[in-house]
Amino acid sequence: MIDVLTNYEIQIRLIIYLVILVIMMFWEQLSPRRTPAISRFIHYSNNIFLLIFNNVIMRIFFPAVTIGISYLSSEAEWGLLNMIDLPSWIEIILAIIILDIIIYMQHVIFHRVPILWRFHMVHHTDPEYDMTTGSRFHPIEILLSLGIKTISIMVFGIPVIAVVLFEIILSSSAMFNHGNIHLPKKLDAVIRWFIVTPDMHRIHHSQDHIEFNQNFGFFLSCWDRIFRTYQESPSIDHRHMLIGLPEYADPRDIVWLSGMLMLPFRKRQTQ
Ligand SMILES: [Zn+2]
Repeated sequence: MIDVLTNYEIQIRLIIYLVILVIMMFWEQLSPRRTPAISRFIHYSNNIFLLIFNNVIMRIFFPAVTIGISYLSSEAEWGLLNMIDLPSWIEIILAIIILDIIIYMQHVIFHRVPILWRFHMVHHTDPEYDMTTGSRFHPIEILLSLGIKTISIMVFGIPVIAVVLFEIILSSSAMFNHGNIHLPKKLDAVIRWFIVTPDMHRIHHSQDHIEFNQNFGFFLSCWDRIFRTYQESPSIDHRHMLIGLPEYADPRDIVWLSGMLMLPFRKRQTQ
């Protein structure tokens, strides 16, 4: 299974991404949580072009870095999980939990450190909130994230299978929890005890300065509860709450791909 996952990693990830994309596209069309203010086609296409741009850049300059480092760590017996003897399924679950808490902490740090916020704000300037928002990140943030992930794999000895599974889990859950989809309230309440739901993470995209420093989780919902950054519901209801950053309103900066790429380098704004 490890060989299949690593040899066909790109193909497997692409197929899973496309399947979830189609499911979410229909779901957002049939049962939207909010009424989109800008053309769905323009919004989808610009955000997806940014995702494609990021993936092409990473594949050209840093192909399979995380998988390579994971193999190297395993061979050299680097990292915590390579030093202790555990059944492989426990090791995989532990590795996924470790990677998820690191993503949570990384997200908090990207909000707290001004220079990092300038790149992360590309994600937050999205005036809409739908499945494509989940993959809307500036290439520099993707690059920094790759560096953090690579160090984490070495320090914790994350096995290859967990590296690939976590990438699939993270991109799938980001599409789901950024979805402009309606989930029945009771179902949402049950799911969010385990994983982040759209109604939980949407609060993080509020224009309210307190709310956008809450609900940082991307997959497991427990970290926000443990570290007291959890907010159950927004101050204005989900249908009417304001999304994005009020200081950025020009569609050329926040909707179009070229604007998103240049945004961190424009005149300094305060968080
Ligand atoms: Zn954020």
